[in-house]
Amino acid sequence: MRTQPMILHPIRPALLAVSAFAALFSCHTASAATPDPQAAGQRWWSYVQYLASDQMEGRLTGSDGYRRAARYVTEQFQASGLAPKGVEGYLQPVRFDVQRIQAAQSSLTLLQKGQEHPLSLGEEALLGSRLPQPKSLEAPLVFVGYGLHIPEAHYDDFADQDLHGKIIVYLNGGPSQLSSALKAHSRSPQEFYRAVEKAGAVGIVSIPNPKSMDIPWSRMALAASQPGMQLADPALQDTRGPMFTLTLNPAHAQQIFAGSGHAWSELLALGDAGKPLPRFPLSTRLRARVSALTEQVESPNIVGVLPGSDPQRKGEYVVLTAHLDHLGIGEPIGGDRIYNGAMDDASGVATLLDVARQLHEAHASLKRSVLFVVVCAEEKGLLGSRYFAGHPTVPAQSLVADLNTDMFLPIIPLNNLTVFGLEESTLGDDVRAVASGMDVKVLPDAQPDRNIFIRSDQYNFIRTGVPSIMSAFAATPGTEEEKTMKAWLTNRYHAPSDDTNQPVDLVAAARFNRLLLTLTERVANADARPQWKQASFFKRFAVSHP
Ligand SMILES: [Zn+2]
Repeated sequence: MRTQPMILHPIRPALLAVSAFAALFSCHTASAATPDPQAAGQRWWSYVQYLASDQMEGRLTGSDGYRRAARYVTEQFQASGLAPKGVEGYLQPVRFDVQRIQAAQSSLTLLQKGQEHPLSLGEEALLGSRLPQPKSLEAPLVFVGYGLHIPEAHYDDFADQDLHGKIIVYLNGGPSQLSSALKAHSRSPQEFYRAVEKAGAVGIVSIPNPKSMDIPWSRMALAASQPGMQLADPALQDTRGPMFTLTLNPAHAQQIFAGSGHAWSELLALGDAGKPLPRFPLSTRLRARVSALTEQVESPNIVGVLPGSDPQRKGEYVVLTAHLDHLGIGEPIGGDRIYNGAMDDASGVATLLDVARQLHEAHASLKRSVLFVVVCAEEKGLLGSRYFAGHPTVPAQSLVADLNTDMFLPIIPLNNLTVFGLEESTLGDDVRAVASGMDVKVLPDAQPDRNIFIRSDQYNFIRTGVPSIMSAFAATPGTEEEKTMKAWLTNRYHAPSDDTNQPVDLVAAARFNRLLLTLTERVANADARPQWKQASFFKRFAVSHP
């Protein structure tokens, strides 16, 4: 995908909010109905229970379990009267190159002053499985600070050093003077891996900052045996050739800095404070032997449409996305090997099924069409949505918005909603208006270093110019609810215990679904399509529309 030149949009007329409001009454909506929230939540949960049952085997992209789940989604689309809008009926098949690292047959060695120090795979470091690994490699290490290359902000951690033939080492995060959106964007695989390859580097060692790690190292290590994937379509791949990738356990990172004149603790303290980091060559070389199994698999996105009723607008699509895939069957935790992915993201798919069903039951008629896109391979790096954005099944310029739902976590009451991308487009104003009508407070991203704005499927729509947001539950800081949310990430996120035996707030989930339904109707019925804000960094991807 090539980015488009930046073209400014006309400013949204101030009266638009009023006219959009009036338009709501000229259309038949579903959000006007008042279903029993407990019953509505129960119906939503029944979808989750099916999709996250052990029978679906964790819905790994390319697996039989995923195919069974896809069949269920297709049946539900059909039952809700959505028309097929894939390539083969509702399905859009996607091909992937798969790589499984064989850690037991691989090795890592640090070379320092003629001495060899083995680096243990699992405890000290993890080989990446996403980009094709070279079979063997020996190269010097260079510390490149945060490893950010952002020409538009005149910030470049790759400058002033020859990275040709070297392995770059960076600390995850970024200086506080750069916006979180900018940092997140430059960390996206499309930007980051390409920049590294262009700089001539042959490998990447990333060191997570413990402060912003979602899950403990021990669980990251368990996940390293899972297969990595890239799209088989070379036009949608991140690098032209192999790229060595490694994640270093921050608890063991000090050893690679030996003899460099810099201590890891000093660098981490600077990172914690968002201060500039020094960049310097390390007196360490890394030797790697990587054994991996490769294969190809195919797995579908599922696409259905509720056609719009306005002759002028029905050729425009409000897209709702959620990802159906999860991690499949993996290393056991607590005796359980099935990574059911109930919240991640059976919950989001269930929300889409629920919104489709509510629109159907209310015989809703919306001006624009609503495109329901349930994607594969999110867990493998947002690949199903990347394929869809690269090969949309409707004209690319007809996509007016993406409202993505991924792991929105209805495990506390819905009082606060974090909206990722809140300040970037007029969708932020829409979600504010809808939420305030429901007594829900809208908050910006409180943890920008977690890069969530680029960590789910909306990002691929953003990159093709489509205004997008993703919303999730947020706790009030300093409350028990905050502890509940934090504990969920630590204990259940990407673990087999993200299953249907966990506590869930059905009324809160129903309220969220209602909010998304109302938002969908508002955007589908508005006179103007959503616009990027003038100040948004992501406006650069926007194309002009007639
Ligand atoms: Zn996930």
